Amino acid sequence: MGMWAFITSGNPLAIWLIAFFVSGIALGIYSGFFRARRIQPNGFKWSVFRHEVLFGAINITFSALALGFLTNWLTSNGYIAVNNEPAAWWVILFEYVLAFFLFDTYFYWFHRAMHIQPIYKWVHLTHHRSTSPNLLTTVSVNPLESFINGGFTPLFLMTFTVHSETMAFILPTNIIMGLYVHSGHEFLPRWWNKSWVTKWFITTTFHDQHHKYFNWNFGGYTPIWDYLCGTVRPKYEADFEQPKARQSKPAPSAVVAESASNN
Ligand SMILES: [Zn+2]
Ligand SMILES: [Zn+2]
Repeated sequence: MGMWAFITSGNPLAIWLIAFFVSGIALGIYSGFFRARRIQPNGFKWSVFRHEVLFGAINITFSALALGFLTNWLTSNGYIAVNNEPAAWWVILFEYVLAFFLFDTYFYWFHRAMHIQPIYKWVHLTHHRSTSPNLLTTVSVNPLESFINGGFTPLFLMTFTVHSETMAFILPTNIIMGLYVHSGHEFLPRWWNKSWVTKWFITTTFHDQHHKYFNWNFGGYTPIWDYLCGTVRPKYEADFEQPKARQSKPAPSAVVAESASNN
């Protein structure tokens, strides 16, 4: 029996072999895709990973309890209310953009304050144990720091009464942005920081460098406050080019010319 006849025979062994090769190729492409975009290729440490699992669990438990308690108390005492009536799309957009930029401002200044001793040692150091972030780093935070950052939402709702439809967008943004900036991989296109329009939105490289170099890049959603206050790491834009996927391959003619000139 020829190979093709064996493959098309429907024999369970043939099906298993096809599945094996197809999944192998898919996994190879998949892992290559991520490896080429890895920001710190050798950054993983088991000791840090254990710290992240432990503090992630402690943080989620305590900050969820504390923030839940605070929000319930504020709601039942009439300090917080949301508007449950339907809203036009542009009203939702306006309320969302307001919350987004106010949180970005709130986060930047509290974050900078948390880098001052001894607040750094007592509150923020837990999160900075991770010098090469991964998704778990998002939750590996001292509960007190989560309470400070999470406290934005009740404060915002005490100041503005927004629609519940807007809240459905505001609430997941924090965790999605957190996972995004701690993903350890740069997925944005290479032109991102070269375009005046897009460079104002945070990249994973931006926050990754905050974990590696500490005293630069404090912004959470945007680098706007960092650009305004001169706290953008000077090599940030140059290092954005570092992951393999960002490096442009030289044209074949250039390679030929280079090897010819090397002789
Ligand atoms: Zn920090
Ligand atoms: Zn972080």
